[in-house]
This record gives sequence, structure tokens and C-alpha cells, in this order.
Amino acid sequence: MKKFAVRNIRLCTKDCLCLYVCPTGATDTENSIIDIDKCTGCGDCAAACPSGAISLVPYDYPPQQKKSERVCSAVMNLAKNKAAEERTAENIASETDDKNLARLMKAVARSSRLVSEDLLREGGYMLPQSSISQDLLASLLENPSAFIPAENARKILESIKCNDRVEKGGKFRCSVCFHEFELEDGDEHICPMCHSSKDKLERL
Ligand code: SF4
Ligand code: SF4
Repeated sequence: MKKFAVRNIRLCTKDCLCLYVCPTGATDTENSIIDIDKCTGCGDCAAACPSGAISLVPYDYPPQQKKSERVCSAVMNLAKNKAAEERTAENIASETDDKNLARLMKAVARSSRLVSEDLLREGGYMLPQSSISQDLLASLLENPSAFIPAENARKILESIKCNDRVEKGGKFRCSVCFHEFELEDGDEHICPMCHSSKDKLERL
């Protein structure tokens, strides 16, 4: 799989090993962003970095694994409860005069937020290239939120294309279970029998 290196600026302690080991000079840039036009994805910089600041990421994002409706529905219900819990804790924190209670409630709100985020990822919002995330981003163009303004949603949609929906329908065969089936334009690009992802399907 073709990859390139990215540097986490927060972890980087600057001016050390990756600058010397990179065979193409891709790490030595004015803005600290690794030059992907020069990067060959050899991984030498990531292996040399003492701070773990460099990761290798794929050029082509993998399709998201299919989640069952039952799992999605259960985690989304739990996520809604966690969101209500977060709001309640924030209200108590903002209304109380007791500093210790306020600190405790802020911690509860934060913890509820982190659990909600995990649940949403588990519910299928893990990858921006998945149809479920792309549908959410498209809905934000119509109804922007304070957390994700419409402009940001538009930029993500323009730069990351959905990779689990077929643009053009037709007949397919799954290379895992050998099931043959038809998909319409815009359908989810997965095997309806074993739920294998797009890369396992052959167009017939
Ligand atoms: S992966 Fe290789 S080519 Fe790319 S920046 Fe790191 S050392 Fe340089
Ligand atoms: S080796 Fe790691 S810490 Fe050092 S400059 Fe490179 S990215 Fe930063």
C-alpha cells in the first residue's frame, strides 16, 4: 500500500534525526509539514524520530468496515444518553456556587463527551470517507453546527471522497463468499451476504 509520512507538530522537538535520515529531503521544510511530493514512504524518519512524532498514512483510505444495524442502534441510543448526561453536568457546573461540585461536574461532562465520541466512532462515524460520515457532513451544509461550520464540512467533502458507495450500479461478485448481486447507482459498496467491503467486490 502506498504511504507517505506526516509529522505531529505538537510532539516534534524540532531539528533532529528525521532531517538527517530522509533520503529525499522531504522532512526539511520551512513550515514543518513533510513535503509529500518528495516523500517516498520509506519510513526511515518514523523509525528514527525519538518523539514518535511521525506516522505513515496511506494515500488511499481504506473503506470502513460494515456495522450491523443492531450494534449501531444500541450505541447511538447510548450516545444520546451520554450527551444528555453531559448537558446535565454542564448545567449543574454553571449554576452551583460550590467550587468542588463545579469541578466534579466539569469532569463528569468531559468524561461523558469522551465516551460519546467513542460510541459515535463505534456506530460508524470513524472514517471521513465512509458514506455515513459523508451523509452527516452533507447534512451539516444545510444545518451547520457550532462545532462544525458549513464551510469546514464543505472542505472535507471536497477533499475526501466517499469510497463505500458505487457511483455506477451493475452486477458484482464478492471474492470472499462468491455471492453475485446487483447494486443501484449510489448504493453502499459492500457484499449484502457477508458484508465484505468494496475492495473485495469484482464488477461483472
Ligand atoms: S518516509 Fe522516507 S522519504 Fe518520506 S519523509 Fe520519511 S524518510 Fe523521507
Ligand atoms: S525526528 Fe521527530 S522530533 Fe526530531 S525533528 Fe523529526 S519529527 Fe521532530
